[in-house]
Amino acid sequence: MSTQLTKSLRGLQVGNANDIDTTLFCAICNLLLHKPIQLLCCGTRLCRWCSKKNLSDSEPFVCPFCQTKLPQKQELADRGVERVLNRVITLCYSCSWTGSYKDYLNHLQEYHADIECANCHEHFFSINSMEEHAEEICEYRCVQSEFSLSIEESNTACSCESKTVSNTSTQLTSKHNQSKTNNEFNLCRSEASKLLNTNSSIVFPFHLDQTDINSLFSMYSTLFKTTQVGYSFILRVCSTKDSANQNQQYLSVFISLVRGEFDQLLVFPFPYTIFLYLCDQSGQGKHIISAIKPDSNELALSRPSSEKNDEIGVMNFCPLNCINEAGSIYFKDNVFLIRVFIDFLDTGPTPFQFETVT
Ligand SMILES: [Zn+2]
Ligand SMILES: [Zn+2]
Ligand SMILES: [Zn+2]
Ligand SMILES: [Zn+2]
Repeated sequence: MSTQLTKSLRGLQVGNANDIDTTLFCAICNLLLHKPIQLLCCGTRLCRWCSKKNLSDSEPFVCPFCQTKLPQKQELADRGVERVLNRVITLCYSCSWTGSYKDYLNHLQEYHADIECANCHEHFFSINSMEEHAEEICEYRCVQSEFSLSIEESNTACSCESKTVSNTSTQLTSKHNQSKTNNEFNLCRSEASKLLNTNSSIVFPFHLDQTDINSLFSMYSTLFKTTQVGYSFILRVCSTKDSANQNQQYLSVFISLVRGEFDQLLVFPFPYTIFLYLCDQSGQGKHIISAIKPDSNELALSRPSSEKNDEIGVMNFCPLNCINEAGSIYFKDNVFLIRVFIDFLDTGPTPFQFETVT
């Protein structure tokens, strides 16, 4: 991850940036202004914390935006732009919530405060707001903040050479054995990963040939993240034989937390309900749904201490007949679809009950 990208993840993300006046964005993080200030030399608008972290307080000050040389940096809280911001309608970057800028800050703090102060364990919705707290407010603050350091460290180039999990679903058809597939699992940190959409969900297609269905199969999804600075996951689907009745097979769906670049900033154990859907492709909305509830004693939901946590999921998600019987509504053109929905707002599984998956 480049420094530029890391910088651009520090501030206030919105889902409808293209609909908002470009003058309301920070010249450093390129995100919607948060606690805006204005440089007196040229009127450039920045988030307070972006300015503090990126523009030197050394004297004299040379403005990187207008090259003016001043005895020292001069900036003012920008009340004018704050009033304009308060009239902006925002769309959440992570869920379907929409509302005013002011309410958005409350929404983020209530539902997306996934970043944790390492000193007092209070939760924040952006790296900027956490750092501002940790360095200026936190009563347990260290003399020197370690957060910037750890973020910069994660910028080091990945030296990982072997990638067995490819960008598309990897088929490990003949290797059903769990420990075997775990050995094969070797993720490169710079692996392109997908993000949840604004409905907080993501759909993975899994391709199975007729011959695969009859033998045991196991497939991984692409790596995916809740947000760019959020939690990383990978999904695995496989067929499982009933231990009591060898003729009865099930589709199993598992999810694993994968070690991510920002884990040290995130709240663990993972605090949201995860819904897994086998999607009805007929448009009747007869999805098969299972939920993984947050559980503070569940090791699989704790902060990953290795490349990837143990799996958590549903062994008997549904009888395998659901996808391999003739005319199945869950299996079309040799593909079945698994949707993952992270329920940030606690709405339950209904948002997708009657939605057609295309
Ligand atoms: Zn300037
Ligand atoms: Zn900024
Ligand atoms: Zn949201
Ligand atoms: Zn703190």
